[in-house]
Amino acid sequence: MLIGCPREIKNREYRVGLTPESTKELTRNGHQVWIETGAGAGIGAEDREYIEAGAQIVDRPEAIFAECEMVVKVKEPQPEERARLREGQILYTYLHLAPDAAQTADLVKSGVTAIAYETVTGAGGGLPLLKPMSQVAGRMSIQAGATALEKVHGGRGVLLGGVPGVMPAKVIVIGGGVVGFNAAQMAAGLGADVTIMDRNPEVLERVGTHFESRAKTRFSNQANLEEAVSEADLVIGAVLIPGASAPKVVTRAMLDMMKPGAVLVDVAIDQGGCFETSRATTHDDPTYVLEHIVHYCVANMPGAVARTSTYALNNVTLPHALRIADLGWREAMRRDAHLAAGLNVHAGHVTYPAVASELGYDL
Ligand code: NAD
Repeated sequence: MLIGCPREIKNREYRVGLTPESTKELTRNGHQVWIETGAGAGIGAEDREYIEAGAQIVDRPEAIFAECEMVVKVKEPQPEERARLREGQILYTYLHLAPDAAQTADLVKSGVTAIAYETVTGAGGGLPLLKPMSQVAGRMSIQAGATALEKVHGGRGVLLGGVPGVMPAKVIVIGGGVVGFNAAQMAAGLGADVTIMDRNPEVLERVGTHFESRAKTRFSNQANLEEAVSEADLVIGAVLIPGASAPKVVTRAMLDMMKPGAVLVDVAIDQGGCFETSRATTHDDPTYVLEHIVHYCVANMPGAVARTSTYALNNVTLPHALRIADLGWREAMRRDAHLAAGLNVHAGHVTYPAVASELGYDL
């Protein structure tokens, strides 16, 4: 199969769909790989390394979209990329379609076969192609929150771990899944006073057993959320309902109950955000202050640590890319129902139930 990997063009996105090492695995298995010149620059991978891995370097992304049977990326295709997608082509990347009607309409119109990393399932449950980015974003959310809590960034001027004789910051993590678990690990490691909230009792039991006295757990209902958020210095939004828009767990009215200068980090912003007052921000200008509360809502947090993120992502995306290339997407999905769960759009139809119902498409 001819596989192409264009340079990412989303603002401040430095990751790349294929590492030189992944490229080598594909070429070793008899596939041809085209890499756009400079695609690996953001992770310190030079064109020369891709050539050594057996790839051909291509100057123009148009050529990749016009010729390649499968396009491997990281972020959802941007409008100019969407205009180049075509029927019969496989797009293998993160899509996050539920909150993105414009992108969904363009993918449907193009006729492309779009496989979304974030909905591929795993044998042990969960979403294994989302997991490494969630680990990165969860860990980063505490770094981002700690910076935003500094006075110069509009925060309360509170140090997460406190110092001897001064209380640590109160960190509320809403959602105890992969993002929440990793956020709690970092916050607890820094000595903060951590509470993890979830509405799934099994999740609460799991994180409670893991963290023991280093973090508290609390059921996520309206009354508990209001009380916890009103006392918090830092709130991490880490909820997910797979394939659907995030529920608004912190409303605009709740901001009035919060301490001025408290910080909200909405990691779920890529699914529309789990705070009512969130709007997506970028690494260029990551925060804004609304009603005395600092909001950090960067939709592509892992892009800032591009090298770690790209290698973590390739570890989980490459095995499926290889199988799709070896067998074709139909046969690969026939043999693996977990990969089949990744199919979101095919030949002019939305094929993923949660996206179809959210955006009003017939399956
Ligand atoms: P996950 O499925 O592992 O965990 C989500 C948790 O949210 C689950 O435990 C679930 O029970 C809980 N939950 C659902 N509704 C809830 C509610 N109303 N109150 C409390 N808990 C609730 O998901 P994850 O991998 O941790 O991802 C969380 C979010 O972070 C997703 O939206 C994901 O797309 C996003 N994410 C964003 C970035 C970024 O750069 N901004 C990067 C990676 C992941």
